[in-house]
Amino acid sequence: MRELVGVALALALLVPAGAEGADGADEEVPADAVPVVEGTYLRPNVELPDGRWAYVHVTPADMPWRIAIGRPPRPPKYGSTTEAREVAIEAMRDWEKAIQPELPWFQLEFVEKDPQAPVQVKWKRRMVGSWAGFGRMTWKVGEEGVRVGGQMEISTTPGRFTTLEIDEVRLLVAHEFGHVLGLGHCLDCDSAMNYSWHTRDRVAVTDVDVRTFLALVEKPNGDAAVPAPTAPGHADPTTELSEDRLP
Ligand SMILES: [Zn+2]
Repeated sequence: MRELVGVALALALLVPAGAEGADGADEEVPADAVPVVEGTYLRPNVELPDGRWAYVHVTPADMPWRIAIGRPPRPPKYGSTTEAREVAIEAMRDWEKAIQPELPWFQLEFVEKDPQAPVQVKWKRRMVGSWAGFGRMTWKVGEEGVRVGGQMEISTTPGRFTTLEIDEVRLLVAHEFGHVLGLGHCLDCDSAMNYSWHTRDRVAVTDVDVRTFLALVEKPNGDAAVPAPTAPGHADPTTELSEDRLP
């Protein structure tokens, strides 16, 4: 119990930086320093103040996971703003459909607007630089333990001359929602979390995505069981957002 309090305190201290840095684990942790569950691309997704890495994830206490998503300011190519919202929700439902047979407690709930919802989707007119969108997990530690939320930023028109098609919106949201769930990238997988989401002809959520999420959820929530990586030149995770470049 004493250990649990310590971890909770550490996580509480992490909240401001961690909200942006969670995804950095994917690129920052040397592969040989991390016990990866076989057949998955699981990596720790939180760096604690003492340099150790941990896993944070949703639990039944977070359910139904309420997601606030409105309509984008601009329509996608060959579609309406209403359809853009619908495919974004479908992309997140794809995760739910794939996960629920294994974890019946995993339930999503969508509303147009609710500032109290733990997961907020923000449609942007433009993205900064050449990003298409990003997603990240957020968390806080209260009396009930670790509670998890997320933030996603998506644009149907991320660049001045770039307008996404409706299918691209769907793939992009499926990918960013994986980050919101606490997952990193998998460059070698046929996966929603393949970095090259826009060049791959594939279904949005695959078996390896589900296996990786299940492996994450099996980890003790917020437990720093992973030794600190020893790689030199470790970057500040707050600069490592889970943004995704356009081609
Ligand atoms: Zn990504």
